[in-house]
Amino acid sequence: MKHLLVLGLGAAALMAADFVAEGDRWWAHIEFLADDKLQGRETGSDGYREAVKYVAGKMETLGLKPAGTSGYLQPVKFETRQLVEEESSIAIGREGGEEVLSRLDAMQSTRADLAPAAEAAMVFVGYGLRVPEAKYDDLAGVDLRGKIAVYVNSTGAVDAPGPVKSHVGTAPERWAALKAAGAIGTAVIANPRPRGGAGGPGLSPATPPANEEPDGATAEGGRGPGGRRGPQKAFLLADPELQESVGQKVSIAITHRGGDKFFAGSGHTMDEIVKLAMENQPLPKFPLVGMLRTRAAVKRETLEAPNVAGILPGSDPKLKDEYVIMSAHLDHVGVGRAINGDTIYNGAMDDASGIASMLEIARMIKESGAKPKRSILFVAVTAEEKGDLGSRYFASHPTVDRKHIVADVNLDMFMPLFELKWIEVQGLAESTLGDTIREAAKEYGVKVQADKEPDQNRFIRSDQYSFIREGIPSLAFKFGYEFGTRQDKIFHDWVRDRYHKPSDDLNQPVDKTSAAKFNRIIVSLLQRIADAATRPQWRDDSFFKRFAK
Ligand SMILES: [Zn+2]
Repeated sequence: MKHLLVLGLGAAALMAADFVAEGDRWWAHIEFLADDKLQGRETGSDGYREAVKYVAGKMETLGLKPAGTSGYLQPVKFETRQLVEEESSIAIGREGGEEVLSRLDAMQSTRADLAPAAEAAMVFVGYGLRVPEAKYDDLAGVDLRGKIAVYVNSTGAVDAPGPVKSHVGTAPERWAALKAAGAIGTAVIANPRPRGGAGGPGLSPATPPANEEPDGATAEGGRGPGGRRGPQKAFLLADPELQESVGQKVSIAITHRGGDKFFAGSGHTMDEIVKLAMENQPLPKFPLVGMLRTRAAVKRETLEAPNVAGILPGSDPKLKDEYVIMSAHLDHVGVGRAINGDTIYNGAMDDASGIASMLEIARMIKESGAKPKRSILFVAVTAEEKGDLGSRYFASHPTVDRKHIVADVNLDMFMPLFELKWIEVQGLAESTLGDTIREAAKEYGVKVQADKEPDQNRFIRSDQYSFIREGIPSLAFKFGYEFGTRQDKIFHDWVRDRYHKPSDDLNQPVDKTSAAKFNRIIVSLLQRIADAATRPQWRDDSFFKRFAK
């Protein structure tokens, strides 16, 4: 009916009418997934299981081929770890006695492989980074063997492109370097600089960054709703080979107050170190006085939650054995501290929106009758909010031959909050996929921009990073805007007011028509990747090329 009415207005109007209908279809998935009934879809919860059923059911209705290990599902096993506080402690032993630290000074993180008891000397190693490509080395000439590395969790002093700094600053990369240098544990001072301090307007230091790689600088076990007191549960993949803190017997987050207790007698103070770090200045390296003594009792549990995967088989006899992955995360952070009387963290934009797009994109490609040459594998991953764990599991245990995965296109919180004039692309300069998204966006009159806030590390802060680490070229997206515009304000107000809060729910202004247009661009992108004569390649100068096997 709608089509008949606008036919006379020409192709553009018809297109617009389609976007309205497509936007409504997209929103209908979000209405299911972000309903209070699903209780915020925390990994392993009943609400998450409902979401799994919904997505698997839709994949079946669409006629996608099951691509899990059990139908559409790929079960993933997890381990949770929680500190038993009464049986755990942190102390510094010095001549003349032992100072027991309180939670106001320091907290242990159970993401690490905490030893029941440990005692070791400590060395302050600045930012704790070793970055050969930037000729930067905090560990040169420092003897860390059998010791605890104490560092400030910032990469600001390294002169290297954003993606490099992002990568070396992740907890697993840092730990890998420190472990190789002989360290048995870490004690971390949080980055004193506001996130995105240079050129990242609107993000206050109190704002939890989107898709933060959990690291030793927080005592939290994941990205759960804020405000909980006491030790949080760490959430890990059960497969020890995929646990990235192996050998880390001590992991401590130091508070500002606690810092001076660590530095006592060293000739340095917390204020001095924080001031230098605030200015991205080089930091001194020096041994700390005394022995760090920890006791850690950890309560462990196991649970399981699946990824959901379906394939649209390719049409080319040869290329159909290659796979273009489209991913988005199905989990959110669940139920938590009440804000304005609401305890359900619905995660409508984060990331029901991405799952909704995945289902609509699969439907549109299927119904268009297009026959992409390569296969397209749609995967709704679990436990992103716990540290990209579901995607990490899928990327390391893919249900198709890993060598035949040619790309990952990930949608996480793409922020359809205003008109789509710009599409911001993470990873734009890293691979030939940058050209492909430019072509796809151009088709719809949308301009492409690179990551405007590289300090936010978004390229490595969601599920695409799991694929990047397996050598697979990847892209991720946000609705773009120009600095100082109304859209800039809407974007940052959203991050401040709704990100990981109960208000990321069904009751928020969303530009559905623009979301539909965005979905069409992703359809075009996927088809272009699937039909191209050659598979996507990392650029020769891309830092991430090193992961290609
Ligand atoms: Zn999130």
